[in-house]
Amino acid sequence: MNKQDFNEGLLGFLDASPTPLHVTQNMAMMFENAGFIKLNEVEKWELQAGQKYYVTRSDSSIIAFTYPKTDNRYVMIGTHTDSPNLKLKPNPVIKEHGVVKFGVESYGGLLLNPWFDRDLSLAGRVSYLDAENKIQNALINVQKPIAVIPSLAIHLDDKANKERTVNKQTDICPILSTNEDFEFDEFLAWQLEANGIQNVQKIYAHELSFYDMQKASFVGLRNDFIASARLDNLLSCYTGMLSICSVTADKAMLFIASDHEEVGSESVSGAGGSFLENTLHRMFDDYEEYIQMLRSSLMVSADNAHAIHPNYPAKHDANHAPHINKGVVIKVNANQRYASSATTISKFMNTAAALGEPLQHFVTRSDMGCGSTIGPITAARLGIDTIDVGLPTWAMHSIRELAGSDDAHSLYKILTGLQA
Ligand code: ZN
Repeated sequence: MNKQDFNEGLLGFLDASPTPLHVTQNMAMMFENAGFIKLNEVEKWELQAGQKYYVTRSDSSIIAFTYPKTDNRYVMIGTHTDSPNLKLKPNPVIKEHGVVKFGVESYGGLLLNPWFDRDLSLAGRVSYLDAENKIQNALINVQKPIAVIPSLAIHLDDKANKERTVNKQTDICPILSTNEDFEFDEFLAWQLEANGIQNVQKIYAHELSFYDMQKASFVGLRNDFIASARLDNLLSCYTGMLSICSVTADKAMLFIASDHEEVGSESVSGAGGSFLENTLHRMFDDYEEYIQMLRSSLMVSADNAHAIHPNYPAKHDANHAPHINKGVVIKVNANQRYASSATTISKFMNTAAALGEPLQHFVTRSDMGCGSTIGPITAARLGIDTIDVGLPTWAMHSIRELAGSDDAHSLYKILTGLQA
């Protein structure tokens, strides 16, 4: 797939995927179209050599794999489906000062300031009791700008540009309406109806997140950049998904996108949970074969990397400061916040060199803390040799992040060429 088509598809994927549930739904659709067979965790699996499969957990994490059986040296690609956002509280409605607003929790390490003055919409999951007394889940996506968090004017805060802080409880409640007759359950019932769901007896629960209505786009004089919400980590989700879709079923490859990375991965559907381990066990039910497979495979944990910011260059180590559009970044940390080792790095570099693709290196400044991702969690839990890589990004965890228009396509080429 050429770079232009790859990037156009990426913009569509970003816009269609406001929550991990929508990410998973869109990826499942993509895998169906690419000939992957759907598996269900609560049914018996009868895997056939030479086939390709996918399975979801909690509708917010997904695994796709080829099943050659003759080759147990899997190239695995690990990413995450979640991004920091503002999440609705269970009883969200606040009516005061002439408006209806929603109480929200911040999910993950959110950069709060960019959420002000945006056209916000709402998406996620609603659980309800249907006409046959069955509990059902439905995805909703309002797809209209229904809320906004206005900034406090500078006239009311003359220190705004020097020392304004944001209180997560009081300062970031999205405002919906001046009509105080608003009823929340009625609002949810309308959203279900808009999705063709009638006869809802009772709405029990919801997991809904706000997102920015502004669409993903190219930015820069020569379309140098891609600007969007959720580039962390949908950039890697999209790249990993296309990589496994473009290899044949006789190449051993597995792709996993897990939820809850931004809050530490310790959940049923997170990378710290049992999803990957359970799936691999079912693929290799003989224990001897299972361990051989784990120790012969290579996991590429793909998440974003901090590109050096030209206005804040002192935040990087000068010898390990990745540039946008200069290639995939290999992430190293002596304290194992990243799982890369000399062995896994060499394999990755060898493939990139053979393909003529550039690479860069990132080590955080020794006097600053280091982020982490799913790489070390998977390496520790399963004993798979792992490399942490990422695509250079500015404004990580902002409502609008920025990455290069060359780098994701370069990662795609390396992943499809990589051998365990
Ligand atoms: Zn991430």
